[in-house]
Amino acid sequence: MSARDIAVLAELHQEKIAPITYELLGCARALAEAAGGDVVAFLLGGHVEALAGQLAAADRIITVEDPALAGFSPEPYLNVLENLLQTETPRVVLLGSTTIGLDLASLVGARIQAPVVTGCTRLQLAGEQLTVLSHLYAGKMCAEVEVTRLPAICVMLPGSYRERKEGGRGQVEVRPCEAPLPAGAVTFEKMIFPEAGDIDITQQDILVAVGRGIKQQENIELAEELAEALGGAVCASRPVVDQGWLPTTRQVGKSGMTVKPKCYLALGISGAPEHQEGMKNSHLIVAINSDPKAPIYDIAHYGAVVDLMDLAPVLTEKLKARKNV
Ligand SMILES: Cc1cc2nc3c(=O)[nH]c(=O)nc-3n(C[C@H](O)[C@H](O)[C@H](O)COP(=O)(O)OP(=O)(O)OC[C@H]3O[C@@H](n4cnc5c(N)ncnc54)[C@H](O)[C@@H]3O)c2cc1C
Repeated sequence: MSARDIAVLAELHQEKIAPITYELLGCARALAEAAGGDVVAFLLGGHVEALAGQLAAADRIITVEDPALAGFSPEPYLNVLENLLQTETPRVVLLGSTTIGLDLASLVGARIQAPVVTGCTRLQLAGEQLTVLSHLYAGKMCAEVEVTRLPAICVMLPGSYRERKEGGRGQVEVRPCEAPLPAGAVTFEKMIFPEAGDIDITQQDILVAVGRGIKQQENIELAEELAEALGGAVCASRPVVDQGWLPTTRQVGKSGMTVKPKCYLALGISGAPEHQEGMKNSHLIVAINSDPKAPIYDIAHYGAVVDLMDLAPVLTEKLKARKNV
């Protein structure tokens, strides 16, 4: 590796490559194409060598296997990453804005004395000059940040770059684990999955999503009737779930489910970045929101700037009438 390279930390979810990894590779490829250098993926875990071939968007994939790296615990990962970064000296290190990436970013930055930028959505690299667009206050504001000292650690918001699965040399290097791997103060215990029983919103073709604009629990019935008329199911933004109006299995977004239905009808949802993260790849997004400046309209294909209490029942009636024709 040279000091011109762009490094990506690959993430695993249930022993599979997590989708954020491909977005990080998309960003890294764009940087390497514009400013030169190789894209190098670090793949750490208990048994990861067999997965290295899936990171063909990287020029080089460095795997480090050790039982202490099975499941994510910050300290063993930190020690291995520190070793890799000291020997590989990339210009930019990309982590996902995920539990793993956020846990590691500042620790790694402190260890190798590198600047850390979080909430990154766009990166531009010219020589030693890195310019980053970073989201602040859950996306309500953006900051353009000039990073004048490299290497830099950039924590990328999911959805910022298109996934890349190929385009690199895909050369795999298996490295022995040379770093000390103490158990650390925080250790991975187990994954906790949502209770079975409710419908799986990730498998629905049509979702009617309710947000705080629904105002009260009784009004969710409006969404349920509309979902039934459309042949879909109801899901929600986080405030609705936090109120206990719907179960956590129905929450869409950063701390909920990621969905990609054929149609996502958002009722009274502002479209905060954390919500968009879970639904922005839906094939068709239709928003009903009385605020024409609501961010949901930035990604909606169609929208109606009206009171949802007026429109939802009319839509349901019209759909039912069409079915009866
Ligand atoms: C770490 C973290 C994780 C998070 N994870 C998630 C997550 O997984 N999912 C998630 O959704 N959020 C998540 N959030 C919260 C997120 O930031 C927003 O606060 C949340 O998405 C807002 O929900 P909302 O759009 O329902 O409510 P609001 O932002 O309050 O928006 C309500 C909207 O309804 C509209 N409205 C009001 N009345 C009507 C009406 N009568 N007719 C039509 N429109 C109306 C308003 O114009 C407004 O735009 C997370 C936040 C953090 C910090």
